[in-house]
Amino acid sequence: MRGIYIHVPFCARACPYCDFDFQVGRAPDTEAFLAGLAREASGRAAELADWTGGEEHGAQDMSDATWSTVYLGGGTPSLLGPAGLASLGEWLARRFPGAGASEFTVEVNPEHGDAALYAAVRAIGGTRVSLGTQSTEAEGLRTLGRVHSPAEALASIAAAAAAGLRVSADLIVGWPGQTDAGVRADVARLTAAGAEHVSVYALTIEADTPWPTLVRRGKRRLPDSDHQADMLAAAEQALTAAGLLHYEVASYARAGAEARHNLLYWTWQDYLGLGPSAHSARYFADGSVLRRGNVRGLPTWLKDPSTPAEAERLTPEAAATEGLWTGLRDLRGLDVAAYLRRFPAVTRAWIEQRTRRQVARGNLEWIEEGRILRIAPGRWYWHDAVAADLLA
Ligand code: SF4
Repeated sequence: MRGIYIHVPFCARACPYCDFDFQVGRAPDTEAFLAGLAREASGRAAELADWTGGEEHGAQDMSDATWSTVYLGGGTPSLLGPAGLASLGEWLARRFPGAGASEFTVEVNPEHGDAALYAAVRAIGGTRVSLGTQSTEAEGLRTLGRVHSPAEALASIAAAAAAGLRVSADLIVGWPGQTDAGVRADVARLTAAGAEHVSVYALTIEADTPWPTLVRRGKRRLPDSDHQADMLAAAEQALTAAGLLHYEVASYARAGAEARHNLLYWTWQDYLGLGPSAHSARYFADGSVLRRGNVRGLPTWLKDPSTPAEAERLTPEAAATEGLWTGLRDLRGLDVAAYLRRFPAVTRAWIEQRTRRQVARGNLEWIEEGRILRIAPGRWYWHDAVAADLLA
């Protein structure tokens, strides 16, 4: 199992809280972007040939050389429109035949989510859309600076489901003014419209986004961390009551609708990132991992798309340490046997020693006779703090 992530770096306008890598404009230069992807892939041809050459990994289920999942993220992939998506899909099918057979996700903004776009998603092999719904309240969407309406958010979900696509909807919580009742209504509307997977994010404001300037001008307020915690709790309560499993720190799904591509990240599988600011990870038999990050910014990336901004090979022990906290994002728990196959440089005693303090605090627990280590129920909110302690 391994996956491909392609970063599509275009947005029609900038949402004031967002620090992702994108270029603003209504008419993306798809041709230049695809030419950049082709140059990146050919510049990395030797690396890719070696990568897919069937290198033996420590775990049996990791020897598969196919690209089982594809994720087109951004930015706004749906801004490419049906024709642009078709071109990107054609390139992908030529360069990586069979990629995405297990899952092929396209991020879509609700204002683009109509039958024509979904037909294009299906035509390139898409199986799933991740919709940037964010809120179903007019006040929430206005505060977040989104261009779509609540009705468009819900219609885009229903149209995707009608097109035979699996649907994930994003929900941002903790925006100033949001209420418990509002979160419950969001969840009820998203799930009734057909979302079987919901990703929940607390609104966080980075310094280099427009939001701080809007705060200085009196047009926005900064989110409050206690309010955010309350809204996250309200979302969890409503989503689990609606029958979705809280299976990853930020993700909820009906049974069988878990995001397979995202699970690759949490279960230490290889992934190839293409496009500006995309990241790649490749695991080796000794448990070491090669991490690579592309340059940020479309113009810079286009100048030399195959030279990374950063590349680092983590030692087996450093990779194992990192693997502990990524594995614990899966709230169903970390499979210790699979973990030790992936990271053969460490032992069960090493895991026990590393996690002893968090187990004693009740944040982590061993279950199933010690086969599974997981974040204790109700403690997911402290995942970052637990992770910081494990990494220390
Ligand atoms: S559409 Fe998405 S990627 Fe683009 S600015 Fe808004 S939140 Fe960021």
